[in-house]
Amino acid sequence: MIINTDSSWIDDTCMVPIVRDDLSESESEDMYVVDTEPDSEEENPNDRHVLGTINTDKMAKELLALRLSGVNPLEVITALGLNLHNENIAPSVAWSLLEGLIDELKEARLPRKQLPQFSSVNKGVEIIAKARRILVLTGAGISVSCGIPDFRSKDGLYSKVRARFPELDDPTLMFDLAYFKKNPKVFYSFAREIWDVQGHEPSVSHMFISQLEARGQLLRNYTQNIDGIEAQAGISKCITCHGRFDTTTCQRCHDQTLSGERLQEFIHEGVVGTCAHCGGVLKPDLVFFGEPLPDDFDTHIDADCEQVDLVIVMGSSLKVKPVAGLCGRIPRHVPQILINREVVGYPHQFDLYLLGECDDITHYLLSRLGWLSEESSYDGRMPFSPVGPGKYVWTG
Ligand SMILES: [Zn+2]
Repeated sequence: MIINTDSSWIDDTCMVPIVRDDLSESESEDMYVVDTEPDSEEENPNDRHVLGTINTDKMAKELLALRLSGVNPLEVITALGLNLHNENIAPSVAWSLLEGLIDELKEARLPRKQLPQFSSVNKGVEIIAKARRILVLTGAGISVSCGIPDFRSKDGLYSKVRARFPELDDPTLMFDLAYFKKNPKVFYSFAREIWDVQGHEPSVSHMFISQLEARGQLLRNYTQNIDGIEAQAGISKCITCHGRFDTTTCQRCHDQTLSGERLQEFIHEGVVGTCAHCGGVLKPDLVFFGEPLPDDFDTHIDADCEQVDLVIVMGSSLKVKPVAGLCGRIPRHVPQILINREVVGYPHQFDLYLLGECDDITHYLLSRLGWLSEESSYDGRMPFSPVGPGKYVWTG
């Protein structure tokens, strides 16, 4: 696919995939091999448990031996230096607590450490070109240039909510299920700011992802966004982790037949949407705080974490769990790139940090990858300044 990059390039014509034909077959094959396996069978220090050399399997066996020998579990708990507030606890419950503790230790891992072999801009371009199972995690930062406010910045949605509803303790209550049930007005007053399908065109960042898909390199786009622009950009391998705006469920009779157009009218007018059958309040099928993620997240996440050969996080504050924890689930040897205004996710470390506006950086990457129809405007010039190990700030 060739993207036109003059100022009017975001129109219907750039949605049509055009296969780049200037690659020989062997080159194309070559592009799809990325060696991200660990160099040896030795334990990667990155994979070690928080407690370093403690062997949790051995601990579990020793605990079982103690239990069979008739030891009082409260003595074990005390010997570990732990305090129980309730000393009348039944022995079976105390043993369960100890077993649960070991299970927790098994899961506990050190935060991911940077892999310096992937920590240069040129290496980043190379691994994007070669990867064939890229997992892209996106947040509000890729839709800001589409005219959609982000949530947490100074001028973001939450500060507008705070200004208009000062009585609200916490603007995130707008998306809190229990609060919505009591007072849906706050949500409906602001929904049009984030979902009004009129006039929001995909950004360069969206088109970068659709390019990866058109070239067979996208494993999955996990998006935290609810603006639906991925579909407009032609990204089909997309999981909308926080649900969708174009379908709705009545909170009283659970009717789901309301058309997207009618919901849009309610949202556009800023009035609370009500069910035509029972008058109950309508809730778009977004994932509010207090609700589980959509089924397709659970369906794909484990297999995707096993297959992925490159992670790119774009425009996310990595503050909203569980999506924010996704990067920590990926095998440690898989390279990870962050494209964002600022460093996020600490203490998790990415290999390469490209800091600036997502659109500037993805435009640069498209150019370096040879995926633009125009001549590269960079000509070997590096539009980044290094600011730390693997960290580069966009200078344009
Ligand atoms: Zn109803």
